[in-house]
Amino acid sequence: MSGWRPTVAAVFEGVDPGLKIRRVEVAAPQEGEVLLEVAACGACHSDVHKLRGHGTVAPPCVFGHELSGTITETGPSVDRVRPGDRVVCSFLVPCGKCAACAAGADDDCAPFRSAMQRDGLRFDGTHRYRFLDGAALRASGVGGLARHVVLPATAVFPLPNDWPSAWPLADAAVLGCAGLTAYGAVHRAARLTGGERVLVIGAGGVGLCVIALARHAGVVGTVATDLRQGARRAALDFGATAALDGADPPSAAHSVEQVASEDTERGLADRVRSVLGGDPDVVFDTIGTSDTLLQAQQIVAVGGRVVVTGLGGTSGRGIIPDLTVFVRRKVALIGSYAGLPREDMPRLLDAVRSGAFDPARLVSARYPFAQAARAYAEVAAGRIVGRALIEY
Ligand SMILES: [Zn+2]
Ligand SMILES: [Zn+2]
Repeated sequence: MSGWRPTVAAVFEGVDPGLKIRRVEVAAPQEGEVLLEVAACGACHSDVHKLRGHGTVAPPCVFGHELSGTITETGPSVDRVRPGDRVVCSFLVPCGKCAACAAGADDDCAPFRSAMQRDGLRFDGTHRYRFLDGAALRASGVGGLARHVVLPATAVFPLPNDWPSAWPLADAAVLGCAGLTAYGAVHRAARLTGGERVLVIGAGGVGLCVIALARHAGVVGTVATDLRQGARRAALDFGATAALDGADPPSAAHSVEQVASEDTERGLADRVRSVLGGDPDVVFDTIGTSDTLLQAQQIVAVGGRVVVTGLGGTSGRGIIPDLTVFVRRKVALIGSYAGLPREDMPRLLDAVRSGAFDPARLVSARYPFAQAARAYAEVAAGRIVGRALIEY
């Protein structure tokens, strides 16, 4: 591969060294690829898991998957975008060629999961970053925590022409993961319709976008729960009818046994019902621990849907607390990963442009690239409401 050029990347060198800013090289875009000059990268909680050593790509590697930027170069056979285009990048990258992609099921693209997510390479099985000594540097998935990144063109989506000029390109980065995840949950998994009642557990980056998109879809009302007061304030700002402390009762610290009885849930369920004028038709669990999953199933209406986007309990078991209740109340439990980027990113951009929410309001903290490690430390400590943005 020829045409390597200098750039800088925040390289994950292992749990102890953590992130180090390194001068590296990035390849020229190959067939079907683009070179992106990155404007910003959102510090998403899923990268905190990687920082703790739970990623699938061994260090050293480059992660970061919530990007916006400007196309500076395109490889052969790229006609969807051109240099100068301002784009948002989807964290899930459909190869566009496998059977799942051909059927429109972008979120089931096997080459993305194997080549990009598992192996840290691009679809042709080779890398696009290297150290100055020529050693390969892998990317974990998108791997865009760098000044430049080479990506499949299927990852990038131009901002609409009439994108408000007051909205910086950098801030649109949050749409690539938080926004798309929320869009998939609302419109693919829940198939939310106007006139429904909604509960959103967890008002983080994804939760806030779910609240805004639910309002945009014309729901009767949305209650948000979060343990953090700042997040509850943000939930109201994003259009929640009410924002409640999800720990009242039960505390998230309680064991599953202590909260397994439906009666103990009555306090919160009653408050949710009184705000909404009925039980929630859909509960979005954006946290994804056994406690929140339990709460969701106990509060949702008979015949309602529980949509899970959070992976907070990845290391533990998900729980159906009472199989009789689950069966007799006909609860639908729906996992939601990302939506379908090629269809949904343009729709999300349209929804945002038409007023669903202002991406800048999701950003509560900004860090220069050199302080990327600090941004993740703040996310890991739970001190960030919405999103922390790493800017160039
Ligand atoms: Zn993410
Ligand atoms: Zn595919």
